[in-house]
Amino acid sequence: MISQCLNPACRKELHYLRNGRVIRTTRRIGAEVQVEHFWLCGECHMDFDFLFAKDGRVSLAPRPRFIATAHVDIGKPAMDLLLVS
Ligand SMILES: [Zn+2]
Repeated sequence: MISQCLNPACRKELHYLRNGRVIRTTRRIGAEVQVEHFWLCGECHMDFDFLFAKDGRVSLAPRPRFIATAHVDIGKPAMDLLLVS
């Protein structure tokens, strides 16, 4: 069973399932089905998401920062724009 946040830099202990995200994975090994649970605490789930490898392992992937990226992408061309009225 889950006891800590999946993020190795955090490892917050799980006391209540109030925040964050829990996932369940199932993996078939021969005739047996292995079930695993993973938890990301609320703070880590804001910055990371679960990454599922083809071999069934679960790791972390940083969330894309759409707002920050959009700001840079939109901000740069806007600097070259000259608005004349
Ligand atoms: Zn965490």
